[in-house]
Amino acid sequence: MGVDVSLIDPVPSWIDCHAHLDALSDSELADVLAEASAAGVSAVCVAATDLASSEIVLRQCAAFPAVRGAVGIGPFPADPLPGDWEARLGSLLRGARVIALGEIGLDESNPKYPPISRQLPVFERQLEIARQADLPVILHSRGAEARVALLCREHGIRRAIFHCFTGDSASLEAILAGGYSVSFSGIVTFSRSLLERAAEVPIDRLFIETDSPFLSPVPFRGKINRPCRVAITGEAIAKARGIATEALQAAIADNFRRLFMEPSGT
Ligand SMILES: [Zn+2]
Repeated sequence: MGVDVSLIDPVPSWIDCHAHLDALSDSELADVLAEASAAGVSAVCVAATDLASSEIVLRQCAAFPAVRGAVGIGPFPADPLPGDWEARLGSLLRGARVIALGEIGLDESNPKYPPISRQLPVFERQLEIARQADLPVILHSRGAEARVALLCREHGIRRAIFHCFTGDSASLEAILAGGYSVSFSGIVTFSRSLLERAAEVPIDRLFIETDSPFLSPVPFRGKINRPCRVAITGEAIAKARGIATEALQAAIADNFRRLFMEPSGT
């Protein structure tokens, strides 16, 4: 699938690989992107969680050159999906600057979400759709990382990011062993153990994100998050790894290009 890479800034800059901006109007989004650009953020991947937010992601991708999009159905929607959801998702995936299927996954941590027995078929079906389209997936996984990594392997998924990784070292090991990548959010600024984990991940498997509007890093913890603050998370990880900001920016930009913009070659 051809993706336009020309607008990704060649100057070292940050990429926010996961944000939810579908609640913003176009003029609000324009302001948020200008603020991000001023903070050294050149691109934002906006993620959907259901069909309605996927439609908005598609529109935002078309309207804003700095926006890339992931469309998909997460483990959260409690309502039954419409009968034509697969066809609708298939056409959304063909939208301009849509670079991934996501966020999709399994969540065993929240009793308000549908039971795993209902999450699983929707997740597995989307893994098949991603494999057929040769698209990477953006994964949401809470308490199920090893199982999600295994399912990805079983479905022939070669490119995946576990977004907002907060798991333990065994979970990280399962993800890396599957050949997949992890993305860290602002939580690294208030969890020392997670920051240490982010400092140890192989640099070619590392991404960062805001998960806006959630998870603002310190000193904005508890406030509404915005993509500009991915720079704070990036600075914290660069410092913990003992490398220059520009080196981490370059590595993440390289990871982004490789993971999202090159077909897996199978
Ligand atoms: Zn998310």
